[in-house]
Amino acid sequence: MAARILDGKSLAAQIRTEVKRKAAALAQRGIRPGLAVILAGDDPASRVYVRNKALASEQTGVASSLFEFPGSVTETELLRQVEALNADPAVHAILVQLPLPRHVDAAKVLQAVTPAKDVDGFHEANLGALLAGRPRVVPCTPAGVIRLLEHAKVPLAGRRAVVIGRSSIVGKPLALLLLRKDATVTICHSKSGDLERIAVEADLLVAAVGRAKLVGAAMVKPGACVVDVGVNRLPDGSLAGDVDFAAVRDIAGWITPVPGGVGPMTIAMLLENCVNAASKGLRI
Ligand code: NAP
Repeated sequence: MAARILDGKSLAAQIRTEVKRKAAALAQRGIRPGLAVILAGDDPASRVYVRNKALASEQTGVASSLFEFPGSVTETELLRQVEALNADPAVHAILVQLPLPRHVDAAKVLQAVTPAKDVDGFHEANLGALLAGRPRVVPCTPAGVIRLLEHAKVPLAGRRAVVIGRSSIVGKPLALLLLRKDATVTICHSKSGDLERIAVEADLLVAAVGRAKLVGAAMVKPGACVVDVGVNRLPDGSLAGDVDFAAVRDIAGWITPVPGGVGPMTIAMLLENCVNAASKGLRI
């Protein structure tokens, strides 16, 4: 039987409707949630992401402003911009679009964002809070994956979860969130030996790598839930995830498509984090 599709597009639309309602409630109190986006350089994928985020923000009542810099921008200029946004009361949320130009220390710029406005949850104070079991702002992609799994009632407690990828923005925080759901979590990475043997034991298999078709049929346990975080641009210009969807969909119990799975959830979580940042201490 074909796997059930975890439809991120439709769930994200529901979440955005709720975010819009909350933004309207804030507007009645004279507060317009404000998102500031810092974009440096001319990476085409980053431009598309930023455009999509700005559009989604405007559609939900979040005021987004773009601070654009050439690839030659200095670290000092970016830090100065972050400081100005930290101090601006109309800005509730700051997003630094990655990657930054190579000569800039991205970690330093991310750490300069005040944790309360760190809408991506990448600041060490927010990542640390998650590690300590008191999550504050949670990174959007892992939060979106958990929301999708909760919505579909995918069983997690006591189940084996394997997360392929250990980045600080996807793999590691997602593993921590799955631990909070009482899953037994294994994290794999580029040095993991015998990936296939580990993956095929998973009740929940998450691929967050950035390699098209890394996960094939031999890596999926029958009935498992397969979450594809990867976004890969193929030579013909089309998008593909890390999972060979056609090969896996008849083996898995649930599967996320690419596009239309995790991607829209990431944007919905970003908007939710923006409105939450603007409504701190208010009941809306
Ligand atoms: P990243 O920082 O490049 O991390 C990739 C991870 O994959 C690393 O931990 C790396 O291991 C591991 N890896 C690489 N090759 C591997 C292999 N052959 N076998 C097992 N593990 C391997 O990437 P990221 O920022 O986490 O993003 C991962 C993917 O998700 C990308 O395709 C990105 O575009 C996508 N993404 C999608 C969304 C969305 O909203 N849908 C959001 C964020 C990211 P090492 O640590 O050993 O190098």
